[in-house]
Amino acid sequence: MLILHTPDSLLHDPEKYVRRGETVPHPEQARRYHVLLGAARDAGHVPELAGDHGLDPILAVHTPGHVEFFRTAWSRRDEWPTRSDEIFTGHFARPHMHRRPEGFLGLVGYHTADTSTPIRAGTWQAIYGSAQVAISGADAALRDRRAYALCRPPGHHAYADSAGGFCFFNNAAIAARRLQAKTGGKVAILDIDVHHGNGTQGIFYQDPDVLTVSIHGDPTNYFPYYTGYADETGEGAGAGFNLNLPLQHGLGDGTFVATVKHAVERIRDHRPAALVVALGLDASEHDPIGALRVTTAGFVATARAIAKAGLPTVLVQEGGYLSEVLPANLAGFLDAFDAVA
Ligand SMILES: [Zn+2]
Repeated sequence: MLILHTPDSLLHDPEKYVRRGETVPHPEQARRYHVLLGAARDAGHVPELAGDHGLDPILAVHTPGHVEFFRTAWSRRDEWPTRSDEIFTGHFARPHMHRRPEGFLGLVGYHTADTSTPIRAGTWQAIYGSAQVAISGADAALRDRRAYALCRPPGHHAYADSAGGFCFFNNAAIAARRLQAKTGGKVAILDIDVHHGNGTQGIFYQDPDVLTVSIHGDPTNYFPYYTGYADETGEGAGAGFNLNLPLQHGLGDGTFVATVKHAVERIRDHRPAALVVALGLDASEHDPIGALRVTTAGFVATARAIAKAGLPTVLVQEGGYLSEVLPANLAGFLDAFDAVA
């Protein structure tokens, strides 16, 4: 299948963030781009550079303020008190606060939810490029029935106006809106990243036309903590169109694949014109920040189960961090998906 990608992904290479009270090396490294691209290419899939579709498809998901903030943030670094390669804060807007401030110091904490999305010299180009990869992937999926969008930085923790969890723009949501616009039909998003797709849920929570389904490690004591529970089912017109399937930590292939099959049944009932898979690979047993024990064979079975839905599908890369099995997990997934689709 076609691999959509951009080398602009390399322009955002964060160094560190605060995890569980410790400053640790950032796992969402630029090197993931080379590892994932190499794995897909070595498996015989065909790389193609993403096109430039402009800002409108991003603005179909994100607020103008969010987009403008990241577009201009690095050029405003004179307004930041310290000189360093990264701008990030320890002050974050909470839901009960009153306003989006004008000043740069406050804006950083308004548009980010944690320390994991630092702004660097190349961040805008990387996140803009990553969104373009998702859009090109959506278009390719409608043409060829399937495509892999190698998005980096990832996207599923980003809300309409907030970055967080390594994510700035919600690439899967942008792809979903693109598919909706091009098909005029309903869309479904299946998120199999080990972390709940909280941003995606938030973006479509009141929308009955985009079904969001997320399979992830139980968030009771695991990121993103405040969302991802089974009783979050959508609201207003979107009631009944959000399905969370949290799994007990430590479970492996059997439960994971059975849960994927259950999710696919719900997606079939929705009768979407197209499907977005938020393809995190961090449910792997060897992932450095994972919580489940999915093997390469488990990812192969997962891909088969999703491909059998028979929908035009764009696979949007989410998490999945450097480990010896990361390339095999991606190649296994893409090969198995291709074999069915
Ligand atoms: Zn993840």
